[in-house]
Amino acid sequence: MPEANVETLETDVLIVGGGACGMMSSIILSDAGIDHILVEARPTTTALPKAHYLNPRTMEIFRQHNVAQSVYEKAMPLSRCTVRFMTSLGGEGPLDGKELFVLDAFGGNSRRVASQRISQCLATNIPQIRLEPLLRNHADARAPGRIRFNHEVIEFSQDGDGVDATIRDVAKAATYRVRAKYMIAADGGKTIGPAFGVTHQTTGQLAMLCTIHITADLSRWMPGDAQLTWFVHPESPYRWGVLIPLGPTWGRHSEEWAFNFAYNDPSDRLKDEEIIPAIRECLRLPELEIEVHRGSEWGAECSVADRFRFDRIFLGGDAAHRVIPTSGLGLNSAVHDAHNLSWKLAAVVKGQAGASLLDTYEAERQAAARRNYDWSLFTFRNHAVTQVGLGFIAGGSTEQNRAAIAEFLSDTPIGRMLRARAIEVAGTQRMEFGQPEIELGITYNSDAVVPDGTPVPEVDPMGDIHIPVTRPGHRVPHSWIEHAGHRISTHDLTGASEAFVLITGSEGLPWIEAARKVATSMGISMRVARIGLGGEHTFDYVDASGQWDAFKGIDEDGSVLVRPDGYVAFRSKSMVVAPEQVLTDVLSTVLGRDDDAVEIVRAA
Ligand SMILES: Cc1cc2nc3c(=O)[nH]c(=O)nc-3n(C[C@H](O)[C@H](O)[C@H](O)COP(=O)(O)OP(=O)(O)OC[C@H]3O[C@@H](n4cnc5c(N)ncnc54)[C@H](O)[C@@H]3O)c2cc1C
Repeated sequence: MPEANVETLETDVLIVGGGACGMMSSIILSDAGIDHILVEARPTTTALPKAHYLNPRTMEIFRQHNVAQSVYEKAMPLSRCTVRFMTSLGGEGPLDGKELFVLDAFGGNSRRVASQRISQCLATNIPQIRLEPLLRNHADARAPGRIRFNHEVIEFSQDGDGVDATIRDVAKAATYRVRAKYMIAADGGKTIGPAFGVTHQTTGQLAMLCTIHITADLSRWMPGDAQLTWFVHPESPYRWGVLIPLGPTWGRHSEEWAFNFAYNDPSDRLKDEEIIPAIRECLRLPELEIEVHRGSEWGAECSVADRFRFDRIFLGGDAAHRVIPTSGLGLNSAVHDAHNLSWKLAAVVKGQAGASLLDTYEAERQAAARRNYDWSLFTFRNHAVTQVGLGFIAGGSTEQNRAAIAEFLSDTPIGRMLRARAIEVAGTQRMEFGQPEIELGITYNSDAVVPDGTPVPEVDPMGDIHIPVTRPGHRVPHSWIEHAGHRISTHDLTGASEAFVLITGSEGLPWIEAARKVATSMGISMRVARIGLGGEHTFDYVDASGQWDAFKGIDEDGSVLVRPDGYVAFRSKSMVVAPEQVLTDVLSTVLGRDDDAVEIVRAA
């Protein structure tokens, strides 16, 4: 039990952990006007580069909360992004310094037009050492004095009305208590979940990986900009090595890099004095000047907690699920958890929603986590296919692989055939490098969504193509529209608030009037947008390009109700007899204010 006579701070939400999940939870709760305290055990943001790829959905969330611009300013532009497979950067041997395969990736180059059609935000690349300070600044500015680094939760308990936590202020060597209505455990899985004995579905450790943060000038040898450069050499003792630019300058002139190794065998584990020689050997640059900042060794595994909610306590980010970094879904999904949970907590704390809305967090995000688990495991395993596609012989000896790669690189008909085959076979690894359907196509099926009876659309099994739809449970399609002389995205209609958005067509005035009345009577925030194609009629929102028209999936007198997190809560293809009653029923259901099923009567 906590000691008596210590200071107790009261707040609505206590956030444990100042990584991406905790920090975004803070930013979103601040934007919704919810009082909270964030405690982070470390004195500073992370010293490890770790995650670096931010997918378009994450950047959309950052844009919604006015964080995106500051991230793009410091991040690596991915408009010309590639992933490159090489034998090494330098070296004199016949197989050294050879490029095996280059793939457009992460929405760059040939993927750019398609990416820009479906999202207002391009993916970007920024390591956690540079991202977390930005997020911390944003969180601090919105909640001064409430973002507490060097403060650690050492004990906690909950009752029917709230959570009690004892916090140690490490610098002052003092403790205090926080009494909160809810707690978000964004602690990376270190404290809160284990205290509940949370169990995980897990792959177990599939590989040992090692990340070394270095400073080195590689500009003379890097053949071009690449977000990832993979080194696979038949003579290397490592399964592979991957070089990732960390900036602050981007491309081949990056000053800092993360070098990742995967061991073939735990006995290959590097001692400190072996790190620099190992990097030099992998790159075949024996004289390269390298300054090592930090190294970390970690096991690659996927896991999903069997529960994300323990009454008033919610697990988010790595505390709830972990993935192998292939596909970059770890930090990204930590942000998506924060986005999904925070508006629900805000609505419940403000008395706009019933507590059952909070159950939908686990229902929605656990399913998303399982999908991410499967996809990252699959893309990890597909590296075996990539290796074969590049000419390596599965289970082959060094000698056999040396001969195979020599043949792959040869200026012979068989060499040309093998390189052409690599485009198809190794090309399947594109599934790791930014697949639109995986990143934007997560759908929710829970009580916070009112189904409209339409079947689940077919999706591209390879994840290459994402077709935006307004079907309930899907992310509302992004379309550029014009409003008050500005070009905005349909996603901008929500703004950084916790508002719902009702979108209707040119003949949807009854929906607009109904939505305004319902918002007032239910005491919730609602924005409305009647989007028309323009022409001789004037609308507040004009779909000049016809992009929204292509995605909207409703008639001109239909409507789409969008949740504060940009997901479609309800859709009516056309007008109904009593739109006010329908919206009241829908919002009561979505917000957990009413257990009655929604029954909709269409207008004749
Ligand atoms: C080498 C590597 C590469 C990766 N690459 C990618 C990638 O490219 N893309 C991607 O999406 N993901 C990647 N990931 C995963 C990504 O780093 C994590 O998924 C992400 O950091 C999870 O964020 P989080 O906020 O949930 O947890 P964390 O970042 O782990 O933050 C949890 C925080 O909680 C704090 N904490 C713990 N206990 C307490 C306590 N009792 N009191 C107060 N504070 C506490 C910790 O100090 C920590 O700062 C990578 C991971 C690694 C290791």
